[in-house]
Parts: sequence; C-alpha cells; structure tokens
Amino acid sequence: MVVKNIFKHIGVVLHHKWLVFKLCCKVGIIWRGLVHDLSKFSPSEFIPSVKYFAQGKGSPITKEKSEKGYSQAWLHHKGRNRHHPEYWNDDVAPVPRPIMPFKYVCEMICDQLSAGIVYEGKNWTQEHQLKYWTKQKQTCPLNPKLIKMLDIVYEQVAKEGIPKTLTKKNLKSIYDECIKK
Ligand SMILES: [Zn+2]
Repeated sequence: MVVKNIFKHIGVVLHHKWLVFKLCCKVGIIWRGLVHDLSKFSPSEFIPSVKYFAQGKGSPITKEKSEKGYSQAWLHHKGRNRHHPEYWNDDVAPVPRPIMPFKYVCEMICDQLSAGIVYEGKNWTQEHQLKYWTKQKQTCPLNPKLIKMLDIVYEQVAKEGIPKTLTKKNLKSIYDECIKK
C-alpha cells in the first residue's frame, strides 16, 4: 500500500506540476512553472504526504491536519514557496500581509486553478474556482487588495474561461489596478 501510494503521490504531484507549468507559460512565467512546488520532493514534505495520501481526493495536507491537528508537510511547504500568501504573512510585522510581487501572484493563481482541476477531475467547471475562492478567502491571509484581484480574476474565469483570463497582459492590468487603489 505504501509503495503504491508513493507512485500515486508522485503521479498527482507531477500532474499538478504539469498543469501549473502550462498555465505559467501562458502567463509568461516559465521559470516559476518549472520550479513550482519542488519542495514537495524534500523528505519533510514527501514522507507525510505519502503517509496521508488521500487517494487523489483532496490534499494529503488536509488529511494530515485533520488527523494530527497540524501538518508537517504544510509548515515546511509554506515557508519555502513564495506563491503562498502564508509565506509572506507575519501577524507581528509592521505590514502583516504585504502585497506579493506580481510573478508570485500569477503563480498562485495558476496553482489554485490547477489544484481545482486535479482534485475535481471530470466534475471541474469554469465556475468551480469562484465558488471555492468565495469560501477560501474568508481565511486566506492575503493582502485585501490582492483578495479583490482574485475576486475579479475568478469572476472572469467563471464567465469567460481560463484561456481568455490567464494572459500576462490581462493579469498585469488587474494587478496594477487593484494595488494602486
Ligand atoms: Zn505550493
């Protein structure tokens, strides 16, 4: 079972990385697409993820959290990956939720969309991310200006689809508009 889960977990990660890579290329951040989530192959993340492998239905991190109360894989992951708002969040800093640089915001969007596509499988629709985000943003430690940005982006994805929404030009203009206000 463990051996099977090792290969299944690698499969899920590679499938996710491949989708993220394709979206990152569309947005013009090819390098971010290549190095996305590489820390998942470190022992600190790989071992708990295999142990709490959720058979492709959801994230092993969620399963590890519900069984242990915290996730070792996540604590390692969020500290090393700048596309997660949790990397930047520091509640005792003068700016607890800084505005993330544009390239990491793009990587975060590609990541969130790809995660939804992998976990939903055949049930994925272009409205999925907007629905998911509406819940997720209640607890997401993201700068309010970027929360607004993701509202706009995922509404666009719901209405017009990923190909039209995920272009560098479109995301940059939404980003610039949201952070200047
Ligand atoms: Zn990640």
